[in-house]
Amino acid sequence: AKAAGRNTQRFFDPAMQAAASARAALEADLRQGMARGEIVAYYQPVVDAEGRIRGAEALARWRHPQRGLVLPGEFIAIAEQSSLILELSQQVLEAACAQLVRWAADSATRTLGIAVNVSARTFRQPDFADGVLAALQASGAHPGLLRLELTESMLLGDVEDAIGKMRRLKDHGVGFSLDDFGTGYSSLGYLQRLPLDELKIDRSFVRGLPSNANDAAIVRTILTLARSLGLRAVAEGVETSAQRDFLRAHGCDAFQGYLFGRPVPAEELPVQHP
Ligand code: C2E
Ligand code: CA
Ligand code: CA
Ligand code: CA
Repeated sequence: AKAAGRNTQRFFDPAMQAAASARAALEADLRQGMARGEIVAYYQPVVDAEGRIRGAEALARWRHPQRGLVLPGEFIAIAEQSSLILELSQQVLEAACAQLVRWAADSATRTLGIAVNVSARTFRQPDFADGVLAALQASGAHPGLLRLELTESMLLGDVEDAIGKMRRLKDHGVGFSLDDFGTGYSSLGYLQRLPLDELKIDRSFVRGLPSNANDAAIVRTILTLARSLGLRAVAEGVETSAQRDFLRAHGCDAFQGYLFGRPVPAEELPVQHP
């Protein structure tokens, strides 16, 4: 086994070579697509316990001229491996801010918020907070209606630095969610130190509700934890009314999933459009 391991490292591997050039081609295609404005934001509704829409999560989509609508699973990782992710993050943030400004123009939509996913590489930029504040200021969007979704892994590296960036944005009213909660390395101690507003329960735990005893126990624990830390809890991937009922019965504050709506262009969200 040892010899075989050494062989795979030493000899030219055509499969790896092919994968590398496919990655390079996709990256070049994405770079062009971004320059042509093909990256757009779709919006998935987030509803409260009464089923009223309170906002949406912005999700990147690539409107590819040949391939049609491409999902983030196919391009975010590629973008993240290069500095393309910085431009992509900026484009989605600007789209979200412009949407908040449109909603602010009408009394029926002015309280709707938008959550934007932040990539690890973007968050690590020393001027991350300044960039977000500049986009808010340039657009005139209300900072209190913007929420940034971070993941546990990106907060672990330099917790002090992360807290500093979050505090600076929070001072202006920007909110923070911990995305995909339950899949990372959360320790109570560090959770308590982060200036968060919300935990998003990962959809892998919602899937088995209400019948899977394991998932039910994990979700109840997360909801108890959120309550004791004074954080809102949002469930993602809610597809059935039985899942919603379980979550609501155990104190979940907000819901997102196909039961309430798939990600769509902003004009197709079930709200009155200004
Ligand atoms: P995420 O942040 O966990 O986003 C939720 C994902 O779950 C979305 O996939 C959404 O379409 C999907 N989803 C929502 N409700 C349901 C449901 O009821 N059932 C099922 N099966 N799926 C549901 P999507 O849009 O393909 O995005 C995948 C991931 O790509 C996101 O996961 C996020 O990590 C990343 N992503 C998306 N947009 C951006 C972006 O603008 N910037 C960055 N950095 N990452 C992004
Ligand atoms: Ca998210
Ligand atoms: Ca998530
Ligand atoms: Ca997820």
